[in-house]
Amino acid sequence: MKRRKKPQSKPKMAVFKFASCDGCQLSLLDLEDELLEIAGQVDIAYFREATSKQAEGPFDISLADGSITTPHDIERIREVRQRSRYLVSLGACATAGGIQALRNFKDVSEFRSLVYAKPEYIETLATSTGFADHVPVDFELRGCPINKRQLLEVISAFLAGRKPSISSHSVCVECKLRGNVCIMVTGTPCLGPVTHAGCGALCPTYRRGCYGCYGPMETPNTPSLAHALKAAGVSETDLVRLYRTFNANAPEFRKESQAHER
Ligand code: SF4
Ligand code: SF4
Repeated sequence: MKRRKKPQSKPKMAVFKFASCDGCQLSLLDLEDELLEIAGQVDIAYFREATSKQAEGPFDISLADGSITTPHDIERIREVRQRSRYLVSLGACATAGGIQALRNFKDVSEFRSLVYAKPEYIETLATSTGFADHVPVDFELRGCPINKRQLLEVISAFLAGRKPSISSHSVCVECKLRGNVCIMVTGTPCLGPVTHAGCGALCPTYRRGCYGCYGPMETPNTPSLAHALKAAGVSETDLVRLYRTFNANAPEFRKESQAHER
């Protein structure tokens, strides 16, 4: 009798959320047709936003957005790491602490008493940080939110056992590829020269300065850009604000904003 081949089990994928607005998970759901194809190739074993299935793991690939803001988050990200063969951080929160990392520059206990009627019940950390500050991460995908095409590339790469092909150049390169006239020339401050590519130069295409939502590119020359921006009339206070938005705690942006703080 001919022996039947045992069906190969699909790789298990999980999607986790920490402190975030859910925008990066929505980018995954926004893949629509491609998501159906992904669902055909993987077992989506944990994804609270999309399914009631809640497997325990272990998982072949875990995608997670959000930042670490509570002691419980630290325990959870360690557990997720233990249960995952590959861990991918999604977006500005998971890679650099997100906009909530603005707390890292102030006294969080002051905010707590202003925001909550009973601050004594709130257990929070003094900082908001990305996953890599707590556990080893296999890949960091930047953006606020992430670009869904880049996400598709990351998932496909891990499923195929290869390195994701994500360019690490600046937004300026994307701007040039679109044939945009540089808005810095007309006096609009732009963080494009130091910001990681991925959005297709969305803001400059509409004549708006990039505010760095994809975080720092590889080896950004932030002092040089700050020098050019100052020469164009940007004040020290505005330089601090420019570098303190969605990726304020990314080391290169943090260092540059602190250099202009009085
Ligand atoms: S507009 Fe901004 S992103 Fe585009 S080339 Fe100029 S500095 Fe770079
Ligand atoms: S141009 Fe800059 S701020 Fe605008 S979407 Fe792209 S990375 Fe974000």
